[in-house]
Amino acid sequence: MPVKNRFAELHQDITAWRRDLHEHPEILFDTHRTSGIVAEKLRAFGCDEVVEGIGRTGVVGIIKGKSDSSGKVIGLRADMDALPIHEVTGLDYASKTPGAMHACGHDGHTAMLLGAAQYLSETRNFDGTVVVIFQPAEEGGGGGREMCEDGMMARWNIQEVYGMHNWPGMPVGSFGIRPGAFFAATDQFEVNVKGKGGHGAKPHQAIDPLVTASHIVTALQSIVSRNSDPDDQMVISVTGIESSSKAFNVIPASVMFRGTMRTMSKTNRALGEERFKALVSATATAFGCEAEIKWLPGYPAMVNSEAQTEFAADVAEAVSGACDREAPITMGGEDFAYMLEERPGAYILVGNGDSADVHNPEYNFNDEVIPAGCSWWAEIVERRMPVA
Ligand SMILES: [Zn+2]
Ligand SMILES: [Zn+2]
Repeated sequence: MPVKNRFAELHQDITAWRRDLHEHPEILFDTHRTSGIVAEKLRAFGCDEVVEGIGRTGVVGIIKGKSDSSGKVIGLRADMDALPIHEVTGLDYASKTPGAMHACGHDGHTAMLLGAAQYLSETRNFDGTVVVIFQPAEEGGGGGREMCEDGMMARWNIQEVYGMHNWPGMPVGSFGIRPGAFFAATDQFEVNVKGKGGHGAKPHQAIDPLVTASHIVTALQSIVSRNSDPDDQMVISVTGIESSSKAFNVIPASVMFRGTMRTMSKTNRALGEERFKALVSATATAFGCEAEIKWLPGYPAMVNSEAQTEFAADVAEAVSGACDREAPITMGGEDFAYMLEERPGAYILVGNGDSADVHNPEYNFNDEVIPAGCSWWAEIVERRMPVA
């Protein structure tokens, strides 16, 4: 089965919705316009229930099948938020908001799930219930977590959840997925190393926090190379360092550095945090400094369930002819992790073709992905809950 014919008919409409969303990007939880459009369309499609305000600006739509002898309830999730990036694509529907841009394709994700919701509302060709989930604040705000905390899974008795992200560099409409940990846990840290400032020519009268911080930054890489199991991917990146001295000849009193730790397993996440704190404190002490550590937990690793991943890959193969079932792990984070912690499910990548990478000011979602993406959503529902 290739893509569904109905999506060839709806392709133009869905593209127009996508481009309108692209023109009006909204960041984090401030997706008021987008959420309003989503809710209005879901009502117009004839969804059985549309609820706004789940996870602040999240929207949930319920679509009941022709029958419900299975008692199954499947959640399909899209993200709606944009990024604080200034768009330079020069498109005629480029962002009208300076400094905000749909640079991760969430405009496409929202439009495709809306398209699927329209089709599923029209056809109802399944035995059970679909919950379409539109979340805000995927890009760092934890909108998915907040929807879960609002009790979404229990309120609608959701039993499985599915998610999809476009992926630049993969052929348009092709799919990739893998079971187990797929996206990383994304913790962050900020460390303030305090010493004693002084004249650059009289280091013996100072306690140099910059030399100390440099040793710490170097030592941190030993967590990845010496403590972590080589089979278990891990990244520690120190991405910024700031000295309290702006002069050529003044040893600073303090130095701050910050960065991120990416891990794929709970074991490495705990080990990394523990080793990080021990190395920072002990190294600072060894050099006569003090270190203040701010550990900022981020999203957990996103882990695909085995059975649902295999099913999602079978559906992708039916839609596009092939599916890479061993797509490479990404050390990026994904807020869908919280939904997968609450319910079994799977998250799949769909090729965006030869485009600029996500989070790049040149990026654009490829509208040619729409028929394959929508078909995957619809087919997930019709195959998982077939009518008798
Ligand atoms: Zn992103
Ligand atoms: Zn994204």
